[in-house]
Amino acid sequence: MKLLEERIQKDGTVKEGNILKVDSFLNHQMDVELFDLMGQEFKRLFADAPINKILTIEASGIGIACVAARSFHVPVVFAKKTQTLNIDGQVLSSKVDSFTHKKTYDIIVSKKFLTQQDHVLIIDDFLANGCAVLGLMDLIRAAGAVLEGVGIAVEKGFQTGGQKLRDMGIHLESLAIVDSMDAATGRITFREQPHQS
Ligand code: 5GP
Repeated sequence: MKLLEERIQKDGTVKEGNILKVDSFLNHQMDVELFDLMGQEFKRLFADAPINKILTIEASGIGIACVAARSFHVPVVFAKKTQTLNIDGQVLSSKVDSFTHKKTYDIIVSKKFLTQQDHVLIIDDFLANGCAVLGLMDLIRAAGAVLEGVGIAVEKGFQTGGQKLRDMGIHLESLAIVDSMDAATGRITFREQPHQS
């Protein structure tokens, strides 16, 4: 999505350790009008899928998922990160290694909100090594729900997550795929995606 790539070029900053900071419009302050256009693009890219629920993970995925949900007219469920695992059996859980925080945490979703009836689109802000998405896929599998696809705002194409998901045959759409970025020069390059706007 050219508009998102241009915004990343203009306002994104590259940090040491392969971190792209997009705090001014995506991760902290949020440009909701841009989110709206991103949601419409996700809707166009997943038009053929019978999606009835969007699943994301707290915190940064929630804003993007909620605005996207207005284009899909479906509810959003977000996986909660937790220290204490609920042991009464009412939740589905998985483990996620955090790329940005360098630790492992549990994620949970109530069984009430993810069921066999659901056809799910996963949405998240970033795709790096794929741990967050794989954790969300675990929850979908445990619920007996169907994964219809994965929509990502920014994929870092030089990390392993995108390749893993595509190799699994998952319909993955990343609105911007960063092919390279350099903390010293600030230079960012993107992969061509002719089927996107
Ligand atoms: P993964 O689980 O794919 O390794 O990493 C994805 C998660 O880590 C996302 O949910 C996102 O919050 C965070 N993340 C990974 N890389 C970056 C990055 O370069 N910048 C920001 N802001 N977050 C990132």
